[in-house]
Amino acid sequence: MAKREFKAESKKLLDMVINSIYSKREVFLRELISNASDAIDKIYYRALTDDHLTFNQSDYYIKIDPNKDTRTLKVIDTGIGMTKEELESNLGTIARSGSFDFKNENELKDGYDIIGQFGVGFYAAFMVADTVTVMTKSLDSDEAYKWESQGSDGYTIETIDKKEPGTEIILEIKENTEDENYDEYLEEYRLKQIVKKYSDFIRYPIKMDVTES
Ligand code: ADP
Ligand code: MG
Repeated sequence: MAKREFKAESKKLLDMVINSIYSKREVFLRELISNASDAIDKIYYRALTDDHLTFNQSDYYIKIDPNKDTRTLKVIDTGIGMTKEELESNLGTIARSGSFDFKNENELKDGYDIIGQFGVGFYAAFMVADTVTVMTKSLDSDEAYKWESQGSDGYTIETIDKKEPGTEIILEIKENTEDENYDEYLEEYRLKQIVKKYSDFIRYPIKMDVTES
């Protein structure tokens, strides 16, 4: 399968984000939850004007699913999903991502402040993950797709089986290094803490199965 390249400016920006010395990596979760919430909002607003669509509150939620054995963290939503074209245009061009609404590169050099205040967007996932996989089915498509990327060297898209609309983001969490701890992003208590800190205002349920101790 041929790897598609990110647009040049995207590549540069992505490298900067990934290599940024910014310590608040935890905001990646805020970004993924905010995207999940936006995706549910899209169904909600469409249901207001579309008679064929009803919005049953209980069908719409965000789920966080850490797994220490596989070293993966999933963020699942039952939102509107993405078509193949949307995957290409939304995740293929980083510069379009909300993250990078800066005016120039100088501003980016002081990036950690900007990143703290504004959304960093989907690509923040690469601050904690080596591989990011997006499994998605749009409400407007019969096909479902898997987008996968290891970072700035591009991404692949293939068709998959997925019946229900929505999106599942799978992060393969990085191995700890001497200086950095990534294991924490697989810990339930830590994830709860991050959700509480940044996503308290989200108006859909954020679920996580809790293991008994
Ligand atoms: P922003 O949210 O500011 O637009 P992001 O980088 O966070 O920027 O996301 C880029 C785009 O990717 C979103 O605008 C949306 O179209 C799409 N997207 C990301 N996550 C999801 C998701 N869980 N469900 C549907 N679309 C998504
Ligand atoms: Mg976003």
